[in-house]
Amino acid sequence: MSNDAKRGFTTAILHADRGAPIEHGALHKPLHVSVAYGYRDANELAAVFQGRASGYAYGRQGNPTSAALEAKLTAMEGGVGTVTFATGMAAIGAIMIALLRHGDHVVASQFVFGNTSSLLLTLEAHGQGVTFVDATDAAQVEAALTPATRLVFVETIANPRVQVADLVRIGELCRARGIVYVVDNTMTSPWLFRPVTAGASLVVNALTKYIGGHGNALGGAVTDTGLFDWTRYPNIYDSYKSQPPQNWGLQQLRKKALRDWGATLAPEQAHHIAIGAETLALRMERICANALALARFLGTHRMVRAVHYPGLASHGQHALAQELFGGRFGGLLAFELADGVDPMAFLNRLRIVVLSSNLGDNRTLAIPVAQTIFYEMGPQRRAAMGIAESLIRISVGIEDREDLIDDFDQALG
Ligand SMILES: *Cc1c(COP(=O)(O)O)cnc(C)c1O
Repeated sequence: MSNDAKRGFTTAILHADRGAPIEHGALHKPLHVSVAYGYRDANELAAVFQGRASGYAYGRQGNPTSAALEAKLTAMEGGVGTVTFATGMAAIGAIMIALLRHGDHVVASQFVFGNTSSLLLTLEAHGQGVTFVDATDAAQVEAALTPATRLVFVETIANPRVQVADLVRIGELCRARGIVYVVDNTMTSPWLFRPVTAGASLVVNALTKYIGGHGNALGGAVTDTGLFDWTRYPNIYDSYKSQPPQNWGLQQLRKKALRDWGATLAPEQAHHIAIGAETLALRMERICANALALARFLGTHRMVRAVHYPGLASHGQHALAQELFGGRFGGLLAFELADGVDPMAFLNRLRIVVLSSNLGDNRTLAIPVAQTIFYEMGPQRRAAMGIAESLIRISVGIEDREDLIDDFDQALG
């Protein structure tokens, strides 16, 4: 086991399943589709239900296939445990439902994923306080904290304008005050960045995106980094305090969010995601190189007014991104077309790039932001958020770089 800890990222994922004996020496964790489990005797049944023995009670609270994926995610994030969910949104919703109570306050980045922002507004309607701040500036986070603040929620790289949160300084603020610090690592993935290094308490990954990587499975996960002292958290129910304090948060997440709300990752999806995760490092390396090359190409094109990508020196948090992500900047970029270029006509000329709202696929995907994902907001709020009417978001894939750049070149005309 001591050797395992020294293994590299991809070696560890590839060989994780063989850590325990598998029937027939199968190299993949089998797909366990059973909803229910049988027991040798009544004592074993009771022990599993009471948490005194390991085992499975009912498929809603987990199954061996998702447990194998959870172990891989824990290793990838350098954490102490992981719970998986049916989608990324289910993972985020689980944190809010399981760990917050009426009257608690949340501080969140104003640039969070649109559906996360929508969820936080729903929570507000249920009696929780929510304050949105510019998380590129830790001072704004600090100014928003109140005695009722239980949780701070940020993303590493925001979508679509790719702002980078001041992750380390926000971590310091949360640690000093005993606030749960949640970092959504979806845009970076644990290959580019481990939020544990910025003091995160919980890490969210939408497995649907880079970790699964193929656009063929939905999933989400919450990993506990082991940094948060759950004995200081007022919202842990007494019934979840039987295990060591390090497990309290995840225990409550699994029980409250999976048992009570049921957004469980299906074993088939866990299996797809586990296979996708094996090549995360290879895909991300290619994606990051393609994205930087495309950002540089677009930056010099006369039909492009501005390019937003953390890897460009013109980006507001370029130095911070360099420091946090070790010289790779992810697969998301956005650009504004020059005046007079019709974004819809430009998109219609693309031949390889797919017009799609997803991201983190192997294929390069493009979407006009103002006309789709930010349409409901209207022009005034878009302008306030720095969303130009001609903004195009690109999720860069693994195509051959020349083909990708040629496609943008011909479509720009
Ligand atoms: C997509 C996404 C989510 C939600 O994931 P789903 O699996 O689509 O529910 C959450 N956070 C970020 C940053 C995302 O990009």
